[in-house]
Amino acid sequence: MTERHTPPTPPRRRRGWAGGLCLAAAALLAVLAGGAGAAAPADTGAWFERFKTEATDEELYRFLYAMPKGGDLHNHLSGSVLDDWFYELALAQGERGYHFYTRVRIDNCRPYGGDAFGPDPYLLLFLTLQESSWQQLSPCEQGEFERLEDLDAGQRRAWLDSMVLDKAHEGRDEFFQTHWQRMGDLYLNPYFTADALVRNMQAFGREGLLYLETMIGVLGFLNPDGSRLTPDEVAAIYRERLREADAVATGVAVKLQVAILRFAPNAEEMLRTLYAFVARNRDLFVAVNMVGREDNDKGYPLRFLDTLRALRRDYHGVRLSIHAGEVDEPNDHVRDTLLLGADRIGHGVNLITDPDTMRLMRHGPYLVEINLISNLLLEYVDDYAQHPFPEYLRTGIPVALSTDDRGMWDSNLTDEFFVAVREFNLSWDELVLLSRNSLSYSFAPPPLKTELLSRYALRLANFERRLAGNPAVVLATDARSHGFLCRRYALCDLAPASPETEETP
Ligand SMILES: [Zn+2]
Repeated sequence: MTERHTPPTPPRRRRGWAGGLCLAAAALLAVLAGGAGAAAPADTGAWFERFKTEATDEELYRFLYAMPKGGDLHNHLSGSVLDDWFYELALAQGERGYHFYTRVRIDNCRPYGGDAFGPDPYLLLFLTLQESSWQQLSPCEQGEFERLEDLDAGQRRAWLDSMVLDKAHEGRDEFFQTHWQRMGDLYLNPYFTADALVRNMQAFGREGLLYLETMIGVLGFLNPDGSRLTPDEVAAIYRERLREADAVATGVAVKLQVAILRFAPNAEEMLRTLYAFVARNRDLFVAVNMVGREDNDKGYPLRFLDTLRALRRDYHGVRLSIHAGEVDEPNDHVRDTLLLGADRIGHGVNLITDPDTMRLMRHGPYLVEINLISNLLLEYVDDYAQHPFPEYLRTGIPVALSTDDRGMWDSNLTDEFFVAVREFNLSWDELVLLSRNSLSYSFAPPPLKTELLSRYALRLANFERRLAGNPAVVLATDARSHGFLCRRYALCDLAPASPETEETP
């Protein structure tokens, strides 16, 4: 992976845009002379080109953080729990009777055998179980676990780090084969999931998002006594949580997708179950997705063609966004996935190897959900120079930026925009197009989509107006940077903007 093979990209040594602010503002005002208040997009574009040449990385980040954004269309909720929420949210479920234990040592209680890659891997530290599961273990194995409440500082740090790709040696295998398994019963807790959803809405709201379409679990969730909730009971918990004041106050609209593990032996049965589930929970759920390693050939797209055709005889209006082309080898997965009926493609990294399908998608109705940080950390590109995103964007294939499993990269949507601008020199018009695409290609019902697009247009006009009045005021003072940008771009622990920056006319 890149951080192993390629040194981090150094911060740009620039004098800083704030230092040249008077000049920049004067130039901008000159451009806008005679304007009636709102800057025309072309003027913002000209200003942004100058800003990019002068701004430090920190100034660019603060600008992108404050910039109005559309939605995040490719987000796995269980992979989007940020480090500083994890422990608190897990402990908070004690109020509902859930208590968690995690494996902090291995005492060779099962010395012979054990499934290293199954749902119950023995040789895996920091596997997290709820009390009812822990009680099923032998006394020897029970002794390997500590209650989450009782972790010492070192264990707690290690438990949190065990679910982030923050080391040079960690990559695709670590992510696919241990991160999800470690979450264990937390992955199957409906209240932890619902609380994590609201935390994401709050954080995305601060970043200027209007919409979140996230993949969320509903199958196999656990009551405190270990009995299972039905998918509809889980949906009711999500619905109720989204009605609470703190969720509503975010102003972020939410729709949900359900996902099937594409290579599971019973994937067709799960597809039938979840397709029917979405059809009877349309107020909140909009789509089915297919996830999991594409280099596992048991999950090739055409496996699901007959099942989907049968489902389409009985149900209407269930949308499909499907991971496709998140793989190293050239193949027809994107083309085959469009045949399945998908309107959106997750990742599409290897679409670049399929010219016929690329031509089909130019200026077309299908969108590719681009995940720049994920693709680098999971080694689908070794360097951003290999990423096909600019080719798609600039040949008219609809694209939007999204965060995938941001908790596991420690990142946010601003980070994706930062990478895109820094690596591919995006223009202002391209930034706006990406945000607009993330709403117009969403699966939000038409009235909500219309409302979101008009809210975005209003926010954008307001932002451009403020920019025209005083460019300094659009640098976010409350931006927080995350681990990925710190590790790769040396943009760490953003301090509040200096008073001079805020007050410079
Ligand atoms: Zn994904």
